[in-house]
Amino acid sequence: MNKVMEKLISLHDLDVMISDLANKDISRQEKKLGLYPEAAVAELRKMRDQLASTIDRKHRDMYDRLAGHYGNAVVPVVNQRCSGCLTQLPTAFFASPDRNDQVVTCPSCGRFIYWCD
Ligand SMILES: [Zn+2]
Repeated sequence: MNKVMEKLISLHDLDVMISDLANKDISRQEKKLGLYPEAAVAELRKMRDQLASTIDRKHRDMYDRLAGHYGNAVVPVVNQRCSGCLTQLPTAFFASPDRNDQVVTCPSCGRFIYWCD
């Protein structure tokens, strides 16, 4: 897989974890268990910032804009559709055997897309 895409997927995963831990209900449950979600969130934010600093500005800015607009900037392709907007992708997208070796965006919503198969 393309290194930038790998980093964008990891960035997305960290954002989901940070969002989950910042969720008040989850945070309350973790405190009952004696865990400290604030410390985990701070650590995850540090990891996120470090990872984000290794991504080129163009892709990082695109990611931030998409995440701000949609909530998720990186989505998998499922049944030849972008799982973000459910648009059927053009067949040309599937012709390339090395499609995950490039940074690909959905022609409809603009999210970063990747193939799991
Ligand atoms: Zn889309």
